[in-house]
Amino acid sequence: MRILGIEGTAWAASAAVYDAETDSTFIESDAYEPESGGIHPREAAEHMHTAIPQVVEAALSHARELQAENDESAVDDRAGSGADPPIDAVAFSRGPGLGPCLRIVATAARALAGTLDVPLVGVNHMVAHLEIGRHTADFADPVCLNASGANAHLLAYRNGRYRVLGETMDTGVGNAIDKFTRHVGWSHPGGPKVEAAAADGEYVDLPYVVKGMDFSFSGIMSAAKAAVDDGTPVEDACAGLQETIFAMLTEVAERALSLTGRDELVLGGGVGQNDRLRAMLDTMCEARGATFHAPEPRFLRDNAGMIAVLGAKMYAAGETVAIEESAVDPDFRPDQVDVVWRGDETA
Ligand code: ATP
Repeated sequence: MRILGIEGTAWAASAAVYDAETDSTFIESDAYEPESGGIHPREAAEHMHTAIPQVVEAALSHARELQAENDESAVDDRAGSGADPPIDAVAFSRGPGLGPCLRIVATAARALAGTLDVPLVGVNHMVAHLEIGRHTADFADPVCLNASGANAHLLAYRNGRYRVLGETMDTGVGNAIDKFTRHVGWSHPGGPKVEAAAADGEYVDLPYVVKGMDFSFSGIMSAAKAAVDDGTPVEDACAGLQETIFAMLTEVAERALSLTGRDELVLGGGVGQNDRLRAMLDTMCEARGATFHAPEPRFLRDNAGMIAVLGAKMYAAGETVAIEESAVDPDFRPDQVDVVWRGDETA
């Protein structure tokens, strides 16, 4: 089985092919980089409009190569030419994300599914961030920490759904970091710059806000901005920011492991590329005898590979969607998804 995945919820115009037989994933991405400020929805949508056809063509031509290797009957390499399609289904990010971007990607996915005469699979982007960790670690039933740009969730499976055990009460974790870096005049995305600067900084105290399993970032950001405005070296503010935010995420992840009795933790999302976050989670897991896994960076930041991999699981479980029912949902929550691909597990 080969599945084409298309991702375009915010900044990454991305297409991928997941080949289930070899468990290999080809990903082609083109990032939107704002000239100034943060992600502008209209500009991001224009980027999707320009970049999606190219990344899809690269992924499809990879699929055709795989098909030619496996099937000598693949003589004509043009989509819709009458030869067998090089993929079995088209999976796309249905949400959450920026509406104008989602609509462009969904239109491309519907057109491709129609042209190639293959089914369409609508994927929840946050569940994809989670499932790629479970897939690459081969974990049975982990707690998942999604630390991405626009979101931050703790999730665990129970009775057919991924339950949200805890989440941000205001902004996503990456967006919070990006707001701080915009304030100090650094270009988007801010996360890697904070990570680099923090290495030269001294920790400074910032508000630490955890309420049960939920957490908040907005007060920390205001305090970090105010500290820099008052003369704290930006490197020190970055060190304080990282330690505080990541300690909060580590605390709630530990609480989720304790609450659920699980002993596996997976990390998902672009902020998961941060070495310090991974090290803190790893230390916490080791101390309580749990196993920690973070997928490789290409699967952490937004990417179509995770959409194709989850698309394959959904397709195998018969979870396809008719074109007329494939509307996007900018607020699509992970706990709205019926997790049919896990069979009858009822953990
Ligand atoms: P979502 O998946 O919630 O829709 P998103 O589309 O913004 O979020 P991601 O690719 O998951 O995308 O995450 C992007 C975020 O990751 C940005 O906010 C960026 O600053 C942050 N980030 C990237 N690298 C690092 C790093 N090394 N340390 C901290 N944050 C990072």
